[in-house]
Amino acid sequence: MKIAIEELAGCSGCTIAVLDLHETILDLVEEADIVYSPVIMDVKEPPEDIDIAFVTGAVRNEENQERLKKIRKNSRVLVALGTCACYGGISGLSMMSGREDLFKMIYTGVDTVKEDGKIPHDVPEFLYRVFAVGDMVKIDYYIPGCPPKEARLREIILPLIKGDTIRLSRKSVCSECDRKMGEVKDWSLKRRHVGIPDRNTCLLGQGYLCLGPVTFCGCNAACPKNNVPCHGCNGPSLDILREPCRDIYNLMVRRIADLTDIPSKEIEKELYDVGHIMYAFTMGSEVMEDKEISKIREVISQEGNR
Ligand code: SF4
Ligand code: SF4
Ligand code: SF4
Repeated sequence: MKIAIEELAGCSGCTIAVLDLHETILDLVEEADIVYSPVIMDVKEPPEDIDIAFVTGAVRNEENQERLKKIRKNSRVLVALGTCACYGGISGLSMMSGREDLFKMIYTGVDTVKEDGKIPHDVPEFLYRVFAVGDMVKIDYYIPGCPPKEARLREIILPLIKGDTIRLSRKSVCSECDRKMGEVKDWSLKRRHVGIPDRNTCLLGQGYLCLGPVTFCGCNAACPKNNVPCHGCNGPSLDILREPCRDIYNLMVRRIADLTDIPSKEIEKELYDVGHIMYAFTMGSEVMEDKEISKIREVISQEGNR
């Protein structure tokens, strides 16, 4: 069995998450050879006969696109590993700025990059938008998470390599959270740095925008268990993915309205920075943007990015 890990536009954290399997990595290398992974070994190009390839990161430029097509062609099974690959992830947030501003922030406006303020000639051509890998090629399996948590990877990677059946929960982060709803009264929206939330009751009920109800499980509700609202890093729940008429923003508004009896229109007026808060991990997904009720089209920059 030959396995590979390809890197596109991301932070390499997903590959490090595989290394974070610690001693399980020994079981993995007993079953399979890692034949290509730019982060962990010095092999420049993927071989042609890969059994299972994991691809991490989103598609932001022509080099990412070329590498994705090549790894698809060379692999029997292709797995999107991490939220950047599955839904664009944080790379998708680059769509909130115009191309000129992005290049200024990264190259032309940064003295330490190049004194003449020019973009280096070997920077690959930028695409007009960010793509999740499934927007471009056929993907056999999706493992979201930024990065996917160790316990979740342990449940998936070895059985996948051995060809065993994998049974996972299909619920939302709320299903893994042990907070009680408690009494909801005088509800008002709070920014996450305001006050110290009660540790036992639901954060959403306390006014903090916890995306647990709209986020796919698999992290054991890591953030709410540490008194921090979920910000959606596992990507959307299956409910949202399956139903064209469901979206992160509209389900969150509906959930808050159900909890508080405040009319949806009033809640919408209170919501701020919708791009960063609701779509921080999904903005680069065409599937999410194409939903008729999605707010993604309203928050992405129309200046030269697309
Ligand atoms: S999903 Fe998160 S950890 Fe993985 S490459 Fe993207 S930013 Fe990094
Ligand atoms: S909304 Fe957040 S705090 Fe409330 S149950 Fe769901 S995950 Fe837990
Ligand atoms: S609770 Fe939410 S933000 Fe935190 S790790 Fe889980 S999915 Fe990610």
